[in-house]
Amino acid sequence: MNIPDKINIAVVCLFCGAALEGPENAVYSSGDLIKCAQCGEGNDYDSVVEVAKEKGMEQLKGAVQGAIKETFKGLLKR
Ligand SMILES: [Zn+2]
Repeated sequence: MNIPDKINIAVVCLFCGAALEGPENAVYSSGDLIKCAQCGEGNDYDSVVEVAKEKGMEQLKGAVQGAIKETFKGLLKR
């Protein structure tokens, strides 16, 4: 199966949808607020991570489904 090993998970602002980019070496942990550079709102770290996780799972699901389809295509050809 051909599953991309890199799933792009974008962490986005819950208020305006802009990509959240903290300082490169910033370490956030549960309960922190991540300030959006776009709208200035503070994003709750836990909520942002939950949303990112869901999006990542969707991407992974799509990738797996695509890979399974490809596998069956290969099987039918034989
Ligand atoms: Zn924002």
